[in-house]
Amino acid sequence: MSELGNIVAVMVSVSVDGPYSYRVPYGKTVVRGSIVAVPLVGRLTLGVVWGEPKDNYAHNRLKDIEIIYDVPPLSDELLKTVDWVSRYTLAPPGLVLRSVLRSTEALEPDRPVLAYRRTGHEPDRLTPARSRVLDTVADGEAWTKTLLVGTSGVSPSVIDGLERAGALERLEIPAPPIVQDPDPDAAPLTLSAEQSAAMGQIRELDPQQFGVALLDGVTGGGKTAVFFEAVADTLRAGRQALVLLPEIALTGTFLDRFAKRFGTRPAEWHSDMTPAQRTRTWRGINDGTVRAVVGARSALFLPFHELGLIVLDEEHDGAYKQSDGVNYHARDMAVVRARFAEARVILSSATPSVESRNNANTGRYKHVLLTSRFAAQALPDITALDMREEPPEKGQWIAPRLAREIFATLDRGEQALLFLNRRGYAPLTLCKSCGHQYQCPDCDAWLVEHRFRGVLMCHHCGYEQRRPKVCTECGTEDSLIPIGPGIERVAEEVALRFPEARTVILSSDMGSNAQLRERFAEIERGEYDLIIGTQLVAKGHHFEKLTLVGVLDADLGLAHGDPRAAEKTFQILTQVTGRAGRASKAGRAFLQTYHPTHPVMEAMVKQDREAFYAHELEVRKDGQLPPFGRLAALIVSASEHDDAMGFARKLLSAAPQAEGLRLFGPADAPVAMVRGRHRVRLLVQSPRDFDLSGYVRFWLISAERVTGNLRVQVDIDPISFY
Ligand SMILES: [Zn+2]
Ligand SMILES: [Zn+2]
Repeated sequence: MSELGNIVAVMVSVSVDGPYSYRVPYGKTVVRGSIVAVPLVGRLTLGVVWGEPKDNYAHNRLKDIEIIYDVPPLSDELLKTVDWVSRYTLAPPGLVLRSVLRSTEALEPDRPVLAYRRTGHEPDRLTPARSRVLDTVADGEAWTKTLLVGTSGVSPSVIDGLERAGALERLEIPAPPIVQDPDPDAAPLTLSAEQSAAMGQIRELDPQQFGVALLDGVTGGGKTAVFFEAVADTLRAGRQALVLLPEIALTGTFLDRFAKRFGTRPAEWHSDMTPAQRTRTWRGINDGTVRAVVGARSALFLPFHELGLIVLDEEHDGAYKQSDGVNYHARDMAVVRARFAEARVILSSATPSVESRNNANTGRYKHVLLTSRFAAQALPDITALDMREEPPEKGQWIAPRLAREIFATLDRGEQALLFLNRRGYAPLTLCKSCGHQYQCPDCDAWLVEHRFRGVLMCHHCGYEQRRPKVCTECGTEDSLIPIGPGIERVAEEVALRFPEARTVILSSDMGSNAQLRERFAEIERGEYDLIIGTQLVAKGHHFEKLTLVGVLDADLGLAHGDPRAAEKTFQILTQVTGRAGRASKAGRAFLQTYHPTHPVMEAMVKQDREAFYAHELEVRKDGQLPPFGRLAALIVSASEHDDAMGFARKLLSAAPQAEGLRLFGPADAPVAMVRGRHRVRLLVQSPRDFDLSGYVRFWLISAERVTGNLRVQVDIDPISFY
């Protein structure tokens, strides 16, 4: 790292378009990546030294860097990643940098902790509790109070008493590391022949160079065991490893498995951590004491210096796309960062994204297949239930054949899962007297009834109101009726039809993450017979006694004008039916559908994922959709519809011409109003090798400026189309 001159470019962590020039205080030095605080419009702002200044600064107006933090400078590959993400997503680089620099606390040294040590002086009075404490500290080491209390089994007041009596002295010691070093050789797993072969393929990727493997294997095929060995290789090579999970806050079992394999839990990174845990983890990663991290998508921006491996588990998962602030997809950005860091990437999934499958097919990614289920366990037997031929009784949602299967399963003492990807009681409430449909006042969306809580709620903005006794429109009493099912309504039917079954209902609004983790543990212990859940239950949980899965509305995801609808439906159906029969028992799954001949349903029933990918790739190719073409969405929003539509039309007319480029819209977005703002969409489609980000940037610069309450949001590679 070469030293810079006395004027440098500093990227501040606010929403600005590029670095500003600052003076380095006399006698100090900085390098690219140094973390600093600089004055910016009268306030001290965190920033990072980006390099040489641009040559158009005015000397006399330059301000001094105020603080140079005494922490390792950020790595060059991380700075390059920030620049790349900014260019690609069109988010200002300062805003992307904010994902890296969390807080100033992380830049201060770890605070020492209080500890106690034996003085050698005996207390006048010796109780059994006091003796236990003195035995514990007999080793002469300094013990933290919590550890001393825990180990000796005494109350804290005993320690205080011994200190007053002169038998213990208080001192400050450096804080213990946030995590222990994971040991790559603690408890290596025995791999099956197929897993070993997969590992061999991954090892063909040079560990000191960039390379991507798609670990493509059936649910229950043991992908985790394989990528754990890749993590071990990385640690042995002296590099840091990052494992990303889509729902880390709910997957405590993953951390336990890690601990079993590596002798200690990994550092974690997700929204459920306390600020103190976050700052200490950030610091540990930056100073190199933390070697392995398991985290949510935002962990991609952590200050690793020796990153050697990034694993994305369930790489197809929609949770990897961030859709506020910086619109990035963690899968794509992981590949970008790994390229700069000369690291390896493992994308792991039972249902890879069509993009990743295509990259594997074309040889861009190494395709590592795991085709047999662990312990020679067969895949569940899947049946499509044609709702036109054997529909549920009126007012019910469970078809007779599925109900019979549930009875049989419960009789055998096994568990059944009913899956419906819809929270609440009913998606629509209307008045049977006047026909009024209850809508969100601020969104173009129905209010969803949540009966447990007695409210009608908007799933777009969170608005809620008490469910009225009297129709607010016509004044008729008790005239509101629910239309369609949510999982709470299914639970009601279950309670009536299977009164003996112990039932649990699971969705993201059913409690805190800690409470949800507790529910999952109870299910694993077999404390419930019937589980009713949304996609929350589809991911990564192992329920030994679960042998039947009923999908109540397999068509739910297919209804939208979303180019990824078939892919998303195939993925969620595969995930949820894969829950059946994981351990020692064969499983069965039933899909309630009105479209049993849809390619997704046929591929599901035949368990022919290759047929699904082949068909879907064909469809995408014909439509020049990703991965054969590229998409960008522009959402113009304003508090008045005419303003949004008017500006979108002007934008369209200002669009530069380009070969092979197609523009669609402007049209009202499928959800035409959210939080009181009207939304109008433009969609751009381009050939695959076209610089779509550059095009959109140029377009927005050449178009009329956004004024008033107008806003334009750009989403490159959108994955939701609402
Ligand atoms: Zn009414
Ligand atoms: Zn709303």
